[in-house]
Amino acid sequence: MHFDTLALRATHQPDSVTGAVVSPIHLSTTFARDEHHNLPGPYIYTRANNPNREALEQALATLEGGAVGMAFASGQAATMALFQALRPGDHVLLGTDAYYGTPALLEQVFHPWGLTYTRVDMRDLDAVQASLHENTRIVWCETPGNPMLTITDLLTVSRLAHEAGAITVCDNTWATPVLQRPLDLNCDVVLHSTTKYISGHSDMLGGALVFKRDNDFTQRVRAIQSLSGGVPSPFDCWLASRGLKTLGVRMRAQMATAQAVAEFLNGHPAIEQVHYPGLKTHPDYALIQQQMNEPGAMLSVQVKGDAADAIRFISKLHIFTRATSLGGVESLIEHRASVEGPNTKTPQNLLRLSIGLEHAEDLISDLARALG
Ligand SMILES: *Cc1c(COP(=O)(O)O)cnc(C)c1O
Repeated sequence: MHFDTLALRATHQPDSVTGAVVSPIHLSTTFARDEHHNLPGPYIYTRANNPNREALEQALATLEGGAVGMAFASGQAATMALFQALRPGDHVLLGTDAYYGTPALLEQVFHPWGLTYTRVDMRDLDAVQASLHENTRIVWCETPGNPMLTITDLLTVSRLAHEAGAITVCDNTWATPVLQRPLDLNCDVVLHSTTKYISGHSDMLGGALVFKRDNDFTQRVRAIQSLSGGVPSPFDCWLASRGLKTLGVRMRAQMATAQAVAEFLNGHPAIEQVHYPGLKTHPDYALIQQQMNEPGAMLSVQVKGDAADAIRFISKLHIFTRATSLGGVESLIEHRASVEGPNTKTPQNLLRLSIGLEHAEDLISDLARALG
């Protein structure tokens, strides 16, 4: 089946009692036992499981091609659960072009608990090889990278990780399974901030993991999910499942506009550089053709000038909203270095754009006017 059909089938669960075509939201935190103290179904208590969460978890596992899905209260809660499954003395290898919250968790929370980590440019395969140690448990990839849209060769990095006895995790938030399925490229775990494209309307916070195999590590993370309780509400699970139904059409529309916006900005006299996987000038274009179905709807631009010039440019926009985050139906733009704070390595003249569902011509004329 094609992605769109699969997404609809995976999220379509008519209620067997009432016939309701759209599944109800099960707010109950607890589930009743019969006179023999038996439960009628697999649910006991909502921290451990809930029908709406289970539906979302199974849909995500289907769409990413994995064996087990797990939903969390945020992308960060999902990341947290994976690191919590490691032990003091374990080592994590992480890309330099990664969502800033991932190294922040390692540095501020897990380093004091005995995890070590190294950051490496994942495009430099010799450096990846040299940074893998006996105690490396996780190689953490994010592709396209954040905020420079660099591309990691998932097949090769996974091979190197496996040879060293580590697993590969891929943060697939920006790509979504519409663009690429990392588990098909030999990654072991996919991470999502469902806050972004999956829910798609900037109105819920959530995260998810999909595991290629159901093994001891997967079950350890499952136990952490239920014991530590960083789980999403039934309503948020329902919203994420609803988002999945339109993920394919939203992505395709947003990508077509992103391509037009990237082509307009590329070569504009006020722009120094455009980072977008759909441009032939992208340094990893050959790998993009191999690894990704589509280039996505995220792009970054470096304006000619400094932070003040970048901020002045976006102050003149009317259609783009100046806000962090991504993946919603409204176009957002942000000065990434300001959001990441004083220790950021993000270039000061860089702006990150999340392209929404407005008409391409309106977005382009907004940008053209603001650039002057
Ligand atoms: C937003 C984001 C996260 C964190 O997710 P939250 O839902 O905000 O906790 C992780 N990775 C990427 C790539 C993101 O964009």
